[in-house]
Amino acid sequence: QAVVRPSKIHAAILGITEAFKADSHSKKINLGVGAYRDDKGKPYVLPSVKTAEKKVVDSALDKEYAGITGVPSFTKAAALLAYGPDSAPIKEDIIAITQSISGTGALRIGGAFMERFYPNGKTIYIPNPSWANHNAVFKDSGLKVEKYRYYNKDTIGLDFDGMVEDIKAMPKGSMVLLHVCAHNPTGVDPTEDQWRAICSAMKEGGHFPFFDMAYQGFASGDTDKDAFSLRHFISEGLNPCLCQSFAKNMGLYGERVGAFSIVCESAEEKKRVDSQIKILVRPLYSNPPVHGARIASEILNDASLNKQWLGEVKGMADRIITMRALLKENLEKLGSKHDWSHITSQIGMFAYTGLTAEQMDKLAKEHSVYATKDGRISVAGITTDNVERLAEAIYKVKG
Ligand code: PMP
Repeated sequence: QAVVRPSKIHAAILGITEAFKADSHSKKINLGVGAYRDDKGKPYVLPSVKTAEKKVVDSALDKEYAGITGVPSFTKAAALLAYGPDSAPIKEDIIAITQSISGTGALRIGGAFMERFYPNGKTIYIPNPSWANHNAVFKDSGLKVEKYRYYNKDTIGLDFDGMVEDIKAMPKGSMVLLHVCAHNPTGVDPTEDQWRAICSAMKEGGHFPFFDMAYQGFASGDTDKDAFSLRHFISEGLNPCLCQSFAKNMGLYGERVGAFSIVCESAEEKKRVDSQIKILVRPLYSNPPVHGARIASEILNDASLNKQWLGEVKGMADRIITMRALLKENLEKLGSKHDWSHITSQIGMFAYTGLTAEQMDKLAKEHSVYATKDGRISVAGITTDNVERLAEAIYKVKG
């Protein structure tokens, strides 16, 4: 009779990380983590971050409070990175921005701001599926959350027609959450042409674009290219709001560096929005932490560090793109007859494999490969050392 290892029994009950930790397989693979790993499977502190941090420490700044909206040199540079130097609202200086507790905090401030001031109702539409925390954050902000079609499980791609149809069917002036790039969890992004059509539908409906950008630069390796959707909407005359996170693109996960901004109509409106953001943030957490924002500010404002950082972001994006290609190649080499092109056409840290919950279960139980039941894998967990074994495991459970 086969001996059932305790770790295998626990896998069904415990979360992925716990199950992974408890597994004694020497070549176990964890594809459940939402953080970048280097090719040795280790957390990665960017060299530009190390240099910037040293500069911050060496400058022996005091530890006084920042203002309610954070470190100004950081927020100014963060807006420039997102919107681009050619952006009209940047040139006109009509973007209200506040530092936030990373991307989640930006979403939370944005949710609360909209709950308080959005004139056309308290419903926000999010893609189906979306990052699981979107629903929770917006509900806690007092908004009602509805979904629009996004993912087509038959094509393992974008349900473009469904998405546009749903946008067109929303009540006039609806609030719509859009992932700027590297959609989490699917890794499926609209093409630039599709974004143009989505923007037209949004404009037609008088809808409000609520952008979440947690992966600028991390998707394609190019921070400008990854900001296309946001910048296109603005060039079409829409005034969105934006949540930024520096967790992924600077690897500053635990430092909690982010920003929330709103493109305003005028300098006068910006003043009023700024003031209302302060009124909203003050009772939430008074003011944000300074250390991470100082690091990000050094990187964004020092020309040579900035150049170095852009190279490092590209390095992370490229490693992920290479791992996608290697996984597909290995599956094909094994003789898999399935079409795996979605693995390489998807973008960013996550890939929707199209594997079922049962197949994911088998991957964990029989091959010690751990990821979420929805078939999502974190490509950042793939390395040149484990990709072959991963392909074999997938081939064995799926064919
Ligand atoms: N939005 C999306 C789509 C994300 O995937 C994440 C991180 N997983 C976030 C926002 C926020 O992350 P953080 O609070 O760590 O910046």
